[in-house]
Amino acid sequence: MILGSHVHFGSDQILGSLNEALSYGANAFMLYTGAPQNTLRSKINLEYLNEALKLMNENNISMDNVICHAPYIINLANKEKLDSWNFSISFLKQEITRCEELGIKYIVLHPGSAVKHTKEEGINNIIEALNFIVNDNSKCMIILETMAGKGSECGRTLEEIKAILNGVHSKNIGVCLDTCHLNDAGYDMSKFEEFLEEFDKLIGLDKIKCVHLNDSKNIIGSHKDRHANIGLGTIGFDNLLKILNNEQLKNVPKILETPYINKEDTERELVYPPYKFEIKMLREGIFNSNLIRDIREYYK
Ligand code: FE
Ligand code: FE
Ligand code: ZN
Repeated sequence: MILGSHVHFGSDQILGSLNEALSYGANAFMLYTGAPQNTLRSKINLEYLNEALKLMNENNISMDNVICHAPYIINLANKEKLDSWNFSISFLKQEITRCEELGIKYIVLHPGSAVKHTKEEGINNIIEALNFIVNDNSKCMIILETMAGKGSECGRTLEEIKAILNGVHSKNIGVCLDTCHLNDAGYDMSKFEEFLEEFDKLIGLDKIKCVHLNDSKNIIGSHKDRHANIGLGTIGFDNLLKILNNEQLKNVPKILETPYINKEDTERELVYPPYKFEIKMLREGIFNSNLIRDIREYYK
């Protein structure tokens, strides 16, 4: 079982990410190489990196199971302002270089939002941009995340993902499944075997390099994209556990992006990470109906 969560990239960079992941009992993790909302990036510190590599070795964590997530501000689908589109391309190239410096093999990318373009134009813009970025020699592969279809998001259906993959000349590109997004996009996660069969026919299972394991706050086909804690959403614990333990995706890292827990029912601020408890629950394979209470108890 390869299971972890998204973690911070703090002042001690990947070493901090790794220590956070270890504190959750994870053997995989996903990081942003800086704030996801902005483009401020610190130089990669080799001392932290070497320390992290040593510690990963001691804890049997492979670089194959460390994932980077590209910042949200990148939008390859919208070419209305050429400057912004060009900036998205050059910034994504920079992020890939940072991943290569760190030895990270996969970077998750939201395909993009078409905004005022049609879906087809949006997808063509993504393909055009990716052909400037993706090449066979890169040691870090872009993996396209399946989206909920909120607003004008491209990449909601497998057909859209396939269209992008087909348009990119290099085959050095993969896919990241997000169970919350798939549910909200209209795919039934209680029939995951059938979904994988469809995926295999259209795209090929070997393209799946990461799974974001999230429950959803909304019903199937809602196009909302609001993640819920494991077992507390509409997908449910048993379905998520089956996805986690699916034989065909055995070697693919599963990453939790579930919401933080608030202090009290009345407080809105989300302060406690749920991952240690969600990972434990998933490893044991038994739903903990006191999940939220246990998390509050532990961190208070
Ligand atoms: Fe994402
Ligand atoms: Fe995701
Ligand atoms: Zn999401």
